[in-house]
Amino acid sequence: MSHSVSSGSPRPAVEKIDVGPGFVGIMFCPECNNMLYPREDKERKVLTYTCRNCEYAQQASNSCVYVNKILHKVNELTQINGDVVADPCLPRTEDHPCPKCGHRGAVFFQAQSRRGEEEMRLYYVCAAQNCNHRWTE
Ligand SMILES: [Zn+2]
Ligand SMILES: [Zn+2]
Repeated sequence: MSHSVSSGSPRPAVEKIDVGPGFVGIMFCPECNNMLYPREDKERKVLTYTCRNCEYAQQASNSCVYVNKILHKVNELTQINGDVVADPCLPRTEDHPCPKCGHRGAVFFQAQSRRGEEEMRLYYVCAAQNCNHRWTE
């Protein structure tokens, strides 16, 4: 019954690590224990985590521990740290080409807009090396 994929020690379904900036949380499928991959739900404009091995999917409440930390300082595009493109935790999309250089492959994440505490929007950062353009929907 146990089809273990890796070294054996049982993992919690959601591993939230909160030890400092730069340290990212990784989530695992509660069904099959494979890693969950972030995906953009285009209709609802939210991040979801999906398993590539089975049908499991869940909505990301916090897109990333690390992002959470940087984001409560971010309320303008110019304040987004360009280093986020190097964060392996963040999902990437090729469906939103950079409006500045046309590069396909932007990093995106969800954050509160400055207009209201309730409203979440998606922010994009161009992953092209010498561009780093930021935009939002
Ligand atoms: Zn699974
Ligand atoms: Zn660009």
